[in-house]
Amino acid sequence: MILNHQKIAIVGGGPGGLTLARLLQMSGADVRVYERDYGKNARVQGATLDLHEDSGLEALRRAGLLEAFYDSYRPDAGRMRILDKHGDIHVDDHAAEKAFAEDRPEIDRAPLRKILLDSLQEDTVVWDSQFVSMERQDAGWLMYLKNGTQAYADVVIAGDGANSKIRPYLTALAPVYSGVTIVEGNIYNASTNAPRLWELVRGGKIFAFGDEQSLILSAKGEGSLSFYTGCKVSENWVQESGIDFTQKDGVFAWFKEAFGSWNDFWQELFTSNEIGLIPRPQYHFPLDQRWESLPNLTMLGDAAHRMPPYAGEGVNMAMQDAFELAECLTSGAFTDIHAAIADYEDRMLKRASQITQMSLEMTAMLHSADPIAQMVAMMSGE
Ligand SMILES: Cc1cc2nc3c(=O)[nH]c(=O)nc-3n(C[C@H](O)[C@H](O)[C@H](O)COP(=O)(O)OP(=O)(O)OC[C@H]3O[C@@H](n4cnc5c(N)ncnc54)[C@H](O)[C@@H]3O)c2cc1C
Repeated sequence: MILNHQKIAIVGGGPGGLTLARLLQMSGADVRVYERDYGKNARVQGATLDLHEDSGLEALRRAGLLEAFYDSYRPDAGRMRILDKHGDIHVDDHAAEKAFAEDRPEIDRAPLRKILLDSLQEDTVVWDSQFVSMERQDAGWLMYLKNGTQAYADVVIAGDGANSKIRPYLTALAPVYSGVTIVEGNIYNASTNAPRLWELVRGGKIFAFGDEQSLILSAKGEGSLSFYTGCKVSENWVQESGIDFTQKDGVFAWFKEAFGSWNDFWQELFTSNEIGLIPRPQYHFPLDQRWESLPNLTMLGDAAHRMPPYAGEGVNMAMQDAFELAECLTSGAFTDIHAAIADYEDRMLKRASQITQMSLEMTAMLHSADPIAQMVAMMSGE
């Protein structure tokens, strides 16, 4: 195998990086994952994830983890309600015999991370290892970590997400602002802290729209409610707004104004102090992005192709990258690592371009004048 006697460093223990680590280890490769989180019990924020047959689920199938997935997935988490800003329900998936997205089973991020972590050999993940920089050494890279240590690898794979610190070693292509900024929130213990909305979401999801803005809520299995607002604001709104996103009160004041024409019951999102908030301007990379492949460095997931989340493809693409890259590196189809990486990147970039395009179309549609009518038409197969 071309990976024999090669030290592989995956930077970032997200769904993409961990899936790749598992698949490479199944082929006997020497893999370490360098992750900035302090440990495996770090709180994993974010909405539930629906996995798709040919990408996320296929990755778990190849990783031998489909059974573990079905032990932890949440059958009704995909049931959705579509509401307008007044709170009127236009589509209620809970009333249907079969959920609209039944073929896309949902799992919370934390259990998905646990399944992947549990599948790895002990000490594969090196926690508290935030990548800062690297320089060439021999045929590979010497990485410098924020904790003051250094680590050598023959091949480095960037799985460090949307704001990748490794991507610039491959390309200077800058991300393009999509026009929409998200404020993501997580309300812990939501049955107590946001009881009305918790009741309304019914263990599933709410998609609410009005005034070219969106609000998406998802219930998580451990009792928290994650949500994200979507607003068309300028690229530098986060800085220009002057809002301190570590303080709930300032964000709440902004919400009351920005969503001022929405029914007041949505403000329950901000009534408790058990809440974490983070602003996320949504970027994507140019659809025709290309870079010159290197023999000892590549990337996957959001690092390679960040995109707005409105098509629900990000995790699925990261996991598909993982199994396609693992296949290129371990199948024996290539005589050297450089050729394997080049083939992977070629296919990955073509696929990511199409999916990014689709995500941008969904982003525009969901923040248009009448997304509800379009969603209803889409769900009825028109
Ligand atoms: C609000 C929101 C909702 C979303 N909803 C969905 C959805 O419904 N479906 C879907 O498919 N996708 C969704 N996404 C997108 C999805 O979260 C990402 O596409 C996916 O997580 C990408 O996986 P990844 O492994 O590439 O990166 P990430 O999941 O971002 O993981 C990166 C990992 O790298 C670590 N890391 C970062 N920097 C460093 C560093 N310097 N050194 C070491 N470690 C580092 C991080 O701690 C993290 O563990 C959503 C995103 C957002 C923001």
